[in-house]
Amino acid sequence: MNQDVIREIREKNDIVDVIGERIPLVARGKNYFGVCPFHDDSNPSLCVSREKQIYTCFSCHATGNVFRFLMDYEHKDFTEVVEELGERVGVSVSMGKKEKVSSKYKEWYEIYDLANKYYQNNLMTSAGKSAREYLDKRGITPSLIVEFELGWSLEDHSALTDLLVKKGYSYDLLNQVGISNNDYDIYHKRLMFPLHDLSGKVVGFSGRIIKENGQNKYLNTKETDLFKKGKLLYHYHIARDAARAKKYVLIMEGFMDIIRASSVDIRNTVATMGTALTKDHIGDIKRLSNTIILCFDGDEAGEKATLSAGELFLENGIETKVIRLPNPEDPDSYILKYGKDSFLRLVDQAEYFSDYKIKILKKHVNLNSSEEKSNYIHQVLEQMTKINDPIRLEIVLKDLAKNYEIGYNTLEKSFQELKEKSTLKNKIVPVKPTTIEKENKYTKASEAILYYMIYHPWVIEKTEEAHIVFPKEVYRTLENEIVFYYHQHGSISIADFYTYLSTREELLAVLSHILMREDLKGEPQEEELDDYFQVIMQYNDKQKTKKIQKKIEEYVDPLEQAKIAQEIIELRIGENKNGRRD
Ligand code: ATP
Ligand code: MN
Repeated sequence: MNQDVIREIREKNDIVDVIGERIPLVARGKNYFGVCPFHDDSNPSLCVSREKQIYTCFSCHATGNVFRFLMDYEHKDFTEVVEELGERVGVSVSMGKKEKVSSKYKEWYEIYDLANKYYQNNLMTSAGKSAREYLDKRGITPSLIVEFELGWSLEDHSALTDLLVKKGYSYDLLNQVGISNNDYDIYHKRLMFPLHDLSGKVVGFSGRIIKENGQNKYLNTKETDLFKKGKLLYHYHIARDAARAKKYVLIMEGFMDIIRASSVDIRNTVATMGTALTKDHIGDIKRLSNTIILCFDGDEAGEKATLSAGELFLENGIETKVIRLPNPEDPDSYILKYGKDSFLRLVDQAEYFSDYKIKILKKHVNLNSSEEKSNYIHQVLEQMTKINDPIRLEIVLKDLAKNYEIGYNTLEKSFQELKEKSTLKNKIVPVKPTTIEKENKYTKASEAILYYMIYHPWVIEKTEEAHIVFPKEVYRTLENEIVFYYHQHGSISIADFYTYLSTREELLAVLSHILMREDLKGEPQEEELDDYFQVIMQYNDKQKTKKIQKKIEEYVDPLEQAKIAQEIIELRIGENKNGRRD
């Protein structure tokens, strides 16, 4: 894609207009405010800045430029959004579909592709006969085999490794990407499932045994730069379009569940790699659809997984829906037994997570104990503080009042008290607690320097000359990116810088936090800037002292100790010099 065209399209699509066409915005001061569409809310916590051409939600910390807004709001990918906004302002984008693969991983992707084809081919040869029979017995048809690119790994020690070495890839690389181990193939006699990253490129494999032999049922590629279990979602690249069309997405537990659902044309599905959902997963799932339905196995483990996944989504501002299958079915066996229509009826009847949770809580109370009863009622009220729905609240409160003969007003009062406590708590623990730093003088100085670097290029040069090291990794990364972007483009446009950072959530969150600071304005005096540099240098010196002090503790030799102590004294002198301005 042509960077200039992308910039032109972004500049011609005013963010206030584009967002305003979708959600009502109200002007307040320099900014516009609306109800954030990225978490359940009724307060206007979304702030849109015409000047900076970015938006930020003060509550869930969603942030980005006009492209990012449409990507998340309409569940589209970057290319689609650029095309749509291009049409809106009459700029045509003719882009090659092929995106550039960063050259560092070019060979990795080639290897995974070759391995994928190799495994698929094995399955069709005589060596794959037992696997084909296994699949046939489980009702996995040839067309499903093709759709999911299923394959077979051979008994041979190093057939794949040898093949790839012949093609010119080094043993080192093959070991590194998780295809080989000590120059031997990793997978032997396993049914192979390729794992695709969110954009659809193969980044690893999972291999399933087809006969009980005491080995682990599934064996995954080791974690690499490209394959992280806590980030990958199986079938995500296919689910993207399907979820948009159907307007919901189903989350399941296993590969076989996904494949079975696909056999009856249900493709708006994703699964984790057999692990609990992570925050990263949630962010990516939210991008698929606003309606998220948990459909885990019918057993007790599935109930536990449902409860914790639902809570995690709630903490991230989303109330999911829940389907519970009869024990011991999973989506795979349920669809096989009862068919598509029966399964889709369950989807239709999926209940809200909170309603489900309340039901589960109730299952465990002994209604003869007043203590347990009151405890239960408190838990129900607390659950209701997590959602923003006055009508459902009233229904729940009325039910409680009737069933337990408690005055409605008493319940409502307790609810309000809990709600106040929980909003207080939520204020202290925002959605991305790690990214927003506690205010101390070092973070304040770091943020101020970064803020001025973005608005005033001369500050970039001054900062480079100052040779300071920011106290936090994310500040250092942001600094590097600002410098790099500036040298590449000769100037910094904030909204284009957002395009450049793409979906690096932590950086974006910190950047938006800095840009939204009300206390920083205009152009800094050189002296003010020097003060900030001094503060960071003080910090750097302190770190050095700490390091040396640790060294001292490790040395028993008094002579060495004395030498190091002298180093510290010299550092302290420097520190005082740097600290002089305080
Ligand atoms: P099948 O129906 O063939 O047993 P499944 O996909 O339904 O396969 P489950 O036992 O339900 O498998 O497990 C769910 C998911 O957990 C699997 O799809 C896989 O991703 C992961 N998993 C299960 N067992 C293992 C294991 N031993 N090692 C690693 N991952 C596993
Ligand atoms: Mn299963």
